[in-house]
Amino acid sequence: MAHLLIVEDDELLRDGLSAQLSQAGHQIDTAADGEAALESLEHQGFDGVVLDLGLPKLDGLEVLKRLRKTLPALPVLILTARDGVEDRVAGLNAGADDYLTKPFNGDELLARLQAMLRRASLPAFGTSGPVTHAAGPLRVDPIVPRAWLGGNAIELTQREWELLALLVRCTGQVVSREDVLAVWQSDAGEGGALASNALEVYVHRLRRKLADSGMNIRNIRGLGYMLETGQP
Ligand code: CA
Repeated sequence: MAHLLIVEDDELLRDGLSAQLSQAGHQIDTAADGEAALESLEHQGFDGVVLDLGLPKLDGLEVLKRLRKTLPALPVLILTARDGVEDRVAGLNAGADDYLTKPFNGDELLARLQAMLRRASLPAFGTSGPVTHAAGPLRVDPIVPRAWLGGNAIELTQREWELLALLVRCTGQVVSREDVLAVWQSDAGEGGALASNALEVYVHRLRRKLADSGMNIRNIRGLGYMLETGQP
């Protein structure tokens, strides 16, 4: 059971989320605007926050920026509008751990929340703050789906990030197909069964995102993949 704060101004959605997460065994508090959210965060300890970005009084992005100053490790999942790509990137850059696009499926929210809370509780990451994994010009946040190439944020899905983090941790070593699938399957994010060619698709997408960086994901036939930094 986790103590969660739901920040959402749409009453219907707020009550629905609250009911669903309570039913899943969590203790729920709610806030209907940004100021009320900060007030609650100041006075109570939470294990995680579901944060709508479009909020009265203080918008969600501002709430996120302020709470990150005092609660750098608190897991935060943001809710964004369907066309809010820029909001989503801004949210991730401001320190959100994950996001969902409205309208979303309640089961997916629950799965992502649980994955987020599980990651936050991994002892290796402790409470001393994240240690960024780095390879060449690439840095990957080990806890939340964020990465930077030469200081610029790269937009990644949960699975792309998991694959990239694994490759970066093992730079110069072969990562087998089984290694990647084990990481993906331990996480409920982006649910659904994996098609047999899914890994190739994700590798292809990451290669495109790393294009021009001098880095390459090399296919080692029959063994797996290896990240090469392009430096001697
Ligand atoms: Ca809203």
